[in-house]
Amino acid sequence: MLAAVCHGAKDVRVEPRAEHALAPDEVRVAVAFGGICGSDLHYYHRGAVGDFFVREPLTLGHEVSGVVVEVGSGVKGIETGIKAALDPARPCLTCHYCRAGRANLCTNMQFLGSAGRFPHVQGGFAQHLVLRQDQIVPVPKDTDLLRLSVAEPLSVGLHAVNRAGPLLGKRVLVTGSGPIGLLTARAARFAGAAEVVSTDVEDAALTVAKTQMGATRTVNVAREAGGLAEFEVDGGYFDVALEVSGAAVALASLFKVIRRGGRIVQVGMLPPGTAPVPVNVLQTREIEFVGAFRANDEFRRAVELIVSEAIDVAPILSGTYPLADAVAALERAGDRSKVVKLHLAINEGYR
Ligand SMILES: [Zn+2]
Ligand SMILES: [Zn+2]
Repeated sequence: MLAAVCHGAKDVRVEPRAEHALAPDEVRVAVAFGGICGSDLHYYHRGAVGDFFVREPLTLGHEVSGVVVEVGSGVKGIETGIKAALDPARPCLTCHYCRAGRANLCTNMQFLGSAGRFPHVQGGFAQHLVLRQDQIVPVPKDTDLLRLSVAEPLSVGLHAVNRAGPLLGKRVLVTGSGPIGLLTARAARFAGAAEVVSTDVEDAALTVAKTQMGATRTVNVAREAGGLAEFEVDGGYFDVALEVSGAAVALASLFKVIRRGGRIVQVGMLPPGTAPVPVNVLQTREIEFVGAFRANDEFRRAVELIVSEAIDVAPILSGTYPLADAVAALERAGDRSKVVKLHLAINEGYR
């Protein structure tokens, strides 16, 4: 079987990889689509995400959907031939955090396509993928597998919103309108936010936010003079701010526009050691500053919302490349003036 494998910076090869036998609780899936994520782009361009460097060949990809082709001897309730959403997270299920219902914080997580541990966890831009049975979420046979592959990034947006607390009737700011920012804005509106203001430095992304992903207003913080200054009135306009851009300047701006007692959720990943948090403001205004990392049960919720079409993820789909053209897709995926999210068609012919 073929896979898109990162050997280092600017060195991704589509090449054969070995298959391995299933454990009793495992399932083999033919991957239909794989969404290209910011982390895949970091591996491609830098050979690393944050401090996690590629130290052995790493198959990229974690936003995947597919069809079950083989089930282990102990698997119940999953049959070959069914379509499925594929949860990229394989938590240990036994550590303190797993047992406390916060498996995204698992101390022994295996997450697809990640160099965060060694040996690396091989990813989903591969024609066949072996997962534990609880990572398989069966869906109806008429489900669109391309849209379904957005379940993982949507789950990140849903988790961020859950970390924000109840949003009904609230004024919400979302800084950054890449795929996660757009899905977070959509999730915030879905949760009942009265206003969702989305920011970015690209007009193309903001147009998608405003017209199709739930933003009630947008601000281009690169072009519009004053940026968010108008929201500084009365000590801050927003009840909640979700920082998705991963830009230090965006995080710094939030402490001027968040209300006293408001909450800031950090979703984007900032470069190590650069976070500008004015602790005196945080303290005297009782601002809550919390993190959001990946997702938990929100993955299954994301699958339900996509299958039921309660949330339409189509506006973030920017095109599909065959697996053989993975390098061309990775090159183009970074062009934010034209692309929101690109996908790889891993096994041709699946829909
Ligand atoms: Zn992702
Ligand atoms: Zn665990």
